[in-house]
Amino acid sequence: MVEIDLSGSVSVVTGGSRGIGRAISLGLAKANSKVAIVYASRTESALKVKEEIASFGGVAQIFQCDVSSENEVEHVINDIVSQFGNIHILVNNAGITKDTLLLRMSESDWDAVLDTNLKGAFLMTKHALKFMMKNSFGRIINIGSIVGITGNIGQANYVASKAGLIGFTKAVALEYGGRNITSNLVAPGYIETEMTEKLPKNIKETFLNKVVLKRAGLPEDIANTVVFLVSPLASYITGGVFVVDGGLSLT
Ligand code: NAP
Repeated sequence: MVEIDLSGSVSVVTGGSRGIGRAISLGLAKANSKVAIVYASRTESALKVKEEIASFGGVAQIFQCDVSSENEVEHVINDIVSQFGNIHILVNNAGITKDTLLLRMSESDWDAVLDTNLKGAFLMTKHALKFMMKNSFGRIINIGSIVGITGNIGQANYVASKAGLIGFTKAVALEYGGRNITSNLVAPGYIETEMTEKLPKNIKETFLNKVVLKRAGLPEDIANTVVFLVSPLASYITGGVFVVDGGLSLT
């Protein structure tokens, strides 16, 4: 296997404290990047990831921030830069669901999901970009979802946010490619995390039966793709949408 070494880099992972984000934080730290773990409220989970990273000699710090608030985002980016000196890699992974059929969906269900999943990525990218521009180097990864490509019943707000992220990823790739800043999106399928744990049993079974590779995805499956995309091996890749779903969206 090719060893990926991200020594000298600073990574920011939103929602880096649990599920897919936790695996991404661990993956980047194992590749020797210093990791800023951004989380919303569960400090215990964030501290656990920081300790796990320290246990193998990696460097990480935790930062509480609601990514949907520009004021908080501006502060957290400045805090990260004062602690770590720079930002090279940004993974916009924080995401929430508020699933229900459209006719029952409240305005607040719509706003909460769009604000965290789409506006959060916009705000984090906007404020991190200032430092990436100075470096003439940046790697931005947005975590979408296959439902942002296929659509899904009961998830109009979530699907719209993830489809929006695809357009956002491409616009950023076009605007900042000339500054050696790449922007790509990873679209996970069905991955075992707390987000999918809360799905009804019959929905879980329907998803699993459709997976061509006959197993649920693991957070590490997504983390491996992210580590590759921010590494020198992927330096010519930008504006891409990478489906990591074990073939789920083929069926
Ligand atoms: P998860 O286990 O529910 O974890 C969500 C993470 O996001 C937590 O660290 C949480 O922090 C953080 N977060 C939530 N709202 C935030 C906010 N406003 N500001 C900052 N951080 C916030 O989720 P997951 O399943 O790992 O999903 C991660 C990403 O992958 C999401 O974007 C999701 O849409 C996407 N995805 C997941 C799947 C799947 O099957 N699991 C499939 C496709 C796409 P706290 O713990 O502090 O609340």
